[in-house]
Amino acid sequence: SGAPATQSPSQVPVGVDPTRPSIARIYDGFLGGKDHYDVDRAVMRKINEAVPEAVDIARGNRGFLNRACRFLAAQSQIEQYLDCGSGLPTAENTHQIVQRGNPDTRVIYVDNDPVVLTHGRALLEENENVHMAEADIFAPPAVLAHEIVRKHIDFTEPVVLLHVGTLHHFEGDGGPEVMRQYIDALAPGSYVVFSHFYDPQVPELTELAKRIENILVHGPMGAGRFRTKEEILAMLPGLEIIKPNATTGPDLVVCDEWWPDGPRLTPLSKAARCIAGIVARKP
Ligand code: SAM
Repeated sequence: SGAPATQSPSQVPVGVDPTRPSIARIYDGFLGGKDHYDVDRAVMRKINEAVPEAVDIARGNRGFLNRACRFLAAQSQIEQYLDCGSGLPTAENTHQIVQRGNPDTRVIYVDNDPVVLTHGRALLEENENVHMAEADIFAPPAVLAHEIVRKHIDFTEPVVLLHVGTLHHFEGDGGPEVMRQYIDALAPGSYVVFSHFYDPQVPELTELAKRIENILVHGPMGAGRFRTKEEILAMLPGLEIIKPNATTGPDLVVCDEWWPDGPRLTPLSKAARCIAGIVARKP
């Protein structure tokens, strides 16, 4: 299937195994969703005990995803989006944002979580330009060759590829190679929207990141890495980073600082400073 040598736990779908927590259900739970089971709640409780403001990681990530979609829908003219690891439908989903201005925009969601696939398909029944594909997002050849992806995405034209909140669930150091395979398949002028758990290498933040990482990596999830700026940027080979806010040049910022909707009225929590967001363009 083209899966990289490293097997990360989420590459084996949770299926109906009630003893395995689901990334999609836990993330959705942090965003206020109700589709979680006991096994998910146990993980959420542990994280909340270790880092009470951990919810800010999920919120910051989702806010970034929404603003990046709005930005690209308004400015890129691109009419095809491939959203890898799309997660459970929540208040504002990629297709709702990017189709607001242009209903012809096609969105393909890719995930391997059965709850995501079922909810996604139900939600999308009425929308002929939005489809759900079941594949391992850490096996790019499987995604790129998927029948639904091939049918609706024209790789000779620019694409918006989303890998938001996904690669931290990939163990080992194969992340750059996974992303390279996707990026190689994109036409020039394509964009990549990307976010990742971030270790800013400031002692108090590294310490917070480690507390969460310990629960994720050494608990039933078996994965969830906070990576450094260098490690994250290595996952976007050959891309030009779009200037991420009004004051800094092209670099890495935390999700909440990526073109926020306005000035901050309250300081960012420590947890909010541990997830980075990037929009980059293939030249
Ligand atoms: N992209 C959404 C966002 O940022 O709001 C959801 C992020 S959620 C943290 C990660 C998603 O990736 C989950 O829905 C999970 O099921 C999916 N995922 C994780 N590993 C996967 C794999 N190997 N193949 C397919 N989907 C996977």
